[in-house]
Amino acid sequence: MLVLLLGALALPPLAPLWAQAGAPSRIRAETLARDLEYLSSDALRGRNTFSPGFDSAALYIARRLREAGLKPLGDGGGFYQYYSVLEEEVDTAGAYLEIEGRRFPFGTGFVLLSFAGELGGDLPAAYVGHGWIVRDRGIDPYEGVGLHGKLAVVEGPLAPPAGLGIQRIGRVFPGAVSPLWAARERGAVGLLVLPDSASLGNWDRLANSNLTRFELDPPVPSAYAAAPLGALLLSPEAASALMAGEAPRGGVPFELVKKVRVKIPLSAKRVHRGYNVVAMLEGSDPVLRAEYVTVESHLDGAVGRTPLDGDSIYNAADDNASGSAVTLAIAEEMAAAGPSRRSVIFIWDSGEERGLWGTRWFVHRPPVPLDRIVAHFNVDMVGASRAPGSPDSPTPTVTGPDEVYLIGPGVLSRRLDSLVVAVNRSHLDLKLNRAYDRQESEFFYPRTDAGPFLERGIPTVGFFTGLHDRYHRPSDEARYLDPHKMERIARTVLAIVRAVADWDERPRIEQLPPTVARYR
Ligand SMILES: [Zn+2]
Repeated sequence: MLVLLLGALALPPLAPLWAQAGAPSRIRAETLARDLEYLSSDALRGRNTFSPGFDSAALYIARRLREAGLKPLGDGGGFYQYYSVLEEEVDTAGAYLEIEGRRFPFGTGFVLLSFAGELGGDLPAAYVGHGWIVRDRGIDPYEGVGLHGKLAVVEGPLAPPAGLGIQRIGRVFPGAVSPLWAARERGAVGLLVLPDSASLGNWDRLANSNLTRFELDPPVPSAYAAAPLGALLLSPEAASALMAGEAPRGGVPFELVKKVRVKIPLSAKRVHRGYNVVAMLEGSDPVLRAEYVTVESHLDGAVGRTPLDGDSIYNAADDNASGSAVTLAIAEEMAAAGPSRRSVIFIWDSGEERGLWGTRWFVHRPPVPLDRIVAHFNVDMVGASRAPGSPDSPTPTVTGPDEVYLIGPGVLSRRLDSLVVAVNRSHLDLKLNRAYDRQESEFFYPRTDAGPFLERGIPTVGFFTGLHDRYHRPSDEARYLDPHKMERIARTVLAIVRAVADWDERPRIEQLPPTVARYR
């Protein structure tokens, strides 16, 4: 199959692209181990976005970039690219619904399925059934009702109703539009959700959930954007008061006769400043240097609040001190070995674990024209190994000592894929596992930093060694990882990045799967 494919594509000879294959590499397991140790040390407390630990990690990376002679590509000539995040908090004591003079306070009359900022007024409402749009099956419950400035009344739960056959990949529902987004597109200002037994079973938990919202300011569209509308799950009493005297519930949308008084006030509003670390190696080719290859690892970690097994520090070693160290090693080696033909941009982003903030901001305000970025590499969790005797030896999702998940090119581009395969084979010949190089995989889209690039039409290539039971736990510590495997991955990614950056051809997405949302 592969031989046929290569023949049919008539790939140009690839040999000259990695003339440096035999050159000594300065990428060393010892350096990777040291960087991994520091970035995941208890002192940095998991590098949460907006924390002193993240600042220390960013400073560590920026110092090394300066020493290696990379060009700062952040704001004001520095290495940091800043973004703002707006935090809003509900004033639960002041939040209520009023229906025909009867007041339903937060906590007993309703809880929040999503919160999207302040909401208030005497608002008209329209009933739209389950609220899901499935275009290719002609399902659009909004036809015939105006929603502009209104509340949309939908049947709970907000999850896709059984029987509509809606597929789910992470936060994406291919071919379908969820009620939050569909109602917002039609101009609605909020959702009133009629209770179902499953949602009511979660009432107590929901009474303490969705009370705070963090979102980029201004927001940047993505599958990982925060909910665009507030959704209020009504108590059975509030729901009966709302629907009393109205048309019967069922398939047909209608406008309610009564208006609803809503008040969702804020108790706090804060602006936080986050940042990415961004640097560039300028290309050598007078023409191609105006094209860019990006290599990215998120530097932030997922920091939980609850101690587990007596450990309260979420070190985030594999996720993603490992990738951050590997991307740093690649940047340093490329700076020392000399430029590629195209320019290469290195990004250590923040806010990945909170909603891909840094990456969404990068594609919104790229330091170079976005249409000049020809390929994006995402290095996220690359330290685990299923080697015999290692802590992950019994974990089937973790790759072997000479194996890595390759994600993206198999779906997106046969030409780029062939190049990646050929370069890998002529170097360390790692086993490229394709289990997630499928459009149905949420690791392909939208769960990683590759997502926002893919949503803007840029080919993406991801490297990943697999999920284990330390993921997002305090036990994600450096001692369980394999720096020698990280070295092999760093050398392999470097060789592939260089080959793409030197390629005569510009990589192109041959076919973007319908599962990927498109944003400008
Ligand atoms: Zn990660």
